Amino acid sequence: MVENIWDQFLTIIRQEAGSRVVETWFKAVSLTQWDVLTSTVYLQAPNRFVRDWIKQNYTDLVRLHLGRLLNVEKITLIFIEPGGVSKVDNEPRQRSDETMVVPARKVLVKSSLIKNHGHINRSYSFESFVVGPNNSLAYAAAQAVTQKPGAIYNPLFLYGGSGLGKTHLLHAIGNNIKAQHKKISVLYQTADRFVNEFINAIRFDELRKFQLKYKSVDVLLVDDIQFISNKEQTQEAFFHIFNALHDAHKQIVFSSDTFPQNLAGIADRLKSRMAWGLVADVCAPTIETKIAILQRKADMSNESLSDEVAYFIANSFDSNIRELEGALIRVIAFASLTQQPVTLELAKKVLIRSHETSQKPVSLQTVIKCVGKHYPYTLAQLRSKSRNKQLSFARQVAMFLLKETTDTSLRDIGVYLGGRDHSTVVHAVNKVEKRARLHDEFQVQLKQMEREILRSTVQ
Ligand code: ADP
Ligand code: MG
Repeated sequence: MVENIWDQFLTIIRQEAGSRVVETWFKAVSLTQWDVLTSTVYLQAPNRFVRDWIKQNYTDLVRLHLGRLLNVEKITLIFIEPGGVSKVDNEPRQRSDETMVVPARKVLVKSSLIKNHGHINRSYSFESFVVGPNNSLAYAAAQAVTQKPGAIYNPLFLYGGSGLGKTHLLHAIGNNIKAQHKKISVLYQTADRFVNEFINAIRFDELRKFQLKYKSVDVLLVDDIQFISNKEQTQEAFFHIFNALHDAHKQIVFSSDTFPQNLAGIADRLKSRMAWGLVADVCAPTIETKIAILQRKADMSNESLSDEVAYFIANSFDSNIRELEGALIRVIAFASLTQQPVTLELAKKVLIRSHETSQKPVSLQTVIKCVGKHYPYTLAQLRSKSRNKQLSFARQVAMFLLKETTDTSLRDIGVYLGGRDHSTVVHAVNKVEKRARLHDEFQVQLKQMEREILRSTVQ
């Protein structure tokens, strides 16, 4: 299920930052562990180069989306090297620099070798699509075009709100046609990628190549066609492609957020062509369909889902199936990571509460005891005026941990640790955070301490 979270994460990053970013940087990274107690995600990068690049450029994005998927407000990311620490309780094994660094070129070459499948996502199939009254026409039409591409409904135009299964159906069409008709070439493209490609074709004087690419496919699947609105030149180019394909009885399938005549900013002649074949809507699912979808998704992950949990999740979300799926993944991931069964209580906890760690208060003594295990100092020493370098640092760590794990205010932390003022505590916390950012080993140690503190309270 953790892998599922990572897959889900990659899908989001693909939408937000583009496939190129995913293929180049994130594909080779894996989520090796999630420590629920300290909200820490352990990622394994293939080498330092990738790790540093992600750290420098994508930390916020990763924290935001993984945080949302795992239902945690503030996530800590720790990168581990191949063969490095794999269990939170283990001491990190250090490797020599030589073994950690793989030349960057190797990674980039690897990404370019990823097999092109007409941009079709193999995981979206007709089998994994649940049919209900909301999508039965779209589903039947999608299946029909796979039997005789170009011959029945051409073009097929699917429209409906976000997260209702349009993209899924487009890919299912692509997969099905590819499986049945080996020689037919199928291309899936989102309209915004089409626009970008067209702009690049103009820029690099490659319009002929661009036209040829699209005019030579047998099946063209264009997702979210509304994105070509107000782009007149792109529409003009697309108009010619459409005519060439249609005249040659090649199948075209569109998806859109609204029906053709309602598309604003799109030339009339294009709109009327889009409605030439069959226009089918995909509506919001009924509660029964939502439950069936959840059951199907759980089955696919070999998880069992009771009716009451499925009903609760289905009922908690309006209609967007993407959100429904995200909620299910969060619930199942949480259950499996904490080794608990998926009960109604657990689902409520995960979906309603944002913090999954125990809310029991941590005592100040617990924190000091933990600090004492890692640094050779007593509470009296921590409170003392001594400015010994190591002691000062242990004191700063104690301040940081008191802030992270207890409800004590910064002012009270200062008072507790020898009558120091608020700004001293702020400085300490910043210093510890900075060091953790710069030194992975220290960050791991810090998380380990946090974990010990929280665990002693939970048990
Ligand atoms: P849209 O393109 O309409 O915004 P998507 O096709 O991306 O929506 O669907 C969002 C998610 O919901 C996908 O993971 C998809 O597999 C899932 N989904 C949507 N409808 C169904 C369905 N009827 N059966 C199974 N999964 C579905
Ligand atoms: Mg879509």
